[in-house]
Amino acid sequence: MTAAKVDTGYSVIDGSRFDVADPTNGVVPLSMSVEGLEGTGKTYFGLMTGPLPVVHVNFSDRDATPFLYDMMPERRLLTRLHQFRARDTGGWSRQEGKEALVKLSEIAQEEMADGKMRGGTFIIDSGSSWWEVVQEVFVAPELERQQQDYGKQVGGLAYGSGNLIVKGIINWLKAQGAFVILTHQLTQVWDAKGPVPGKWRARQNNQVPYMVEVQMRLSKTCNACGGPECMAPNHIGRTHWSHLMKFGKRTELEGTTFSNPSMSAVYGMYTGRKLPNVPETRVTDGDSNPS
Ligand SMILES: [Zn+2]
Repeated sequence: MTAAKVDTGYSVIDGSRFDVADPTNGVVPLSMSVEGLEGTGKTYFGLMTGPLPVVHVNFSDRDATPFLYDMMPERRLLTRLHQFRARDTGGWSRQEGKEALVKLSEIAQEEMADGKMRGGTFIIDSGSSWWEVVQEVFVAPELERQQQDYGKQVGGLAYGSGNLIVKGIINWLKAQGAFVILTHQLTQVWDAKGPVPGKWRARQNNQVPYMVEVQMRLSKTCNACGGPECMAPNHIGRTHWSHLMKFGKRTELEGTTFSNPSMSAVYGMYTGRKLPNVPETRVTDGDSNPS
């Protein structure tokens, strides 16, 4: 019996004793898909603005450690980075994808044990090929092998396609009271004539829009000319934007675009309340979103 002890996610809330004015009460954890091109701030959004504590599981090609330098000590103390890398430059193999999913569910259970992530943020930061591999993966044989090898139990996430595993992990994390952020890169849309200007789609598990409550797309524009991918010399400064594509029960806000996206802003728009556990996070100001 080596499985981490987990909160079942069951609780009873007595409305007559519930203080809606207490900001730590009734935190509604959201699951979110955050999409964008390189450099639009996907990783920044979760790591630097998510409520604490933060667990970051990184399947992307970018090292997340530089963010630790940008954090105030309070945030750094409550941040944990898990880094996965494809073993060679060819990207993720199916075998690696399988192993990564098994490990992801183990990390989720270990990090969430005893409710210590309640109100915090769990980020699954995907690389360019990771989701594509995940969609093809069937992990049950790998789980069985590990259970035989190590006598490990990996909980109730054992059987199903890669999609179902990810869906199970998202739902389970949310039931533990954590905000869940999945990041996705964008890829150019092509037609018969070649790339279609300005048209992008997310490289993602095609079930993701149904798995999450909030789907948002990040972008940035030049402060001098407003261009999305400005290369002009001396056009200094960028503004980061979020566009809400799906917004759970607040469908009246879908289509909203706002600048300087943060979890506090999104949570405030969604619930009308302030998000607890989000202290000031940046050591320096200015445009320093590297990813
Ligand atoms: Zn410009």
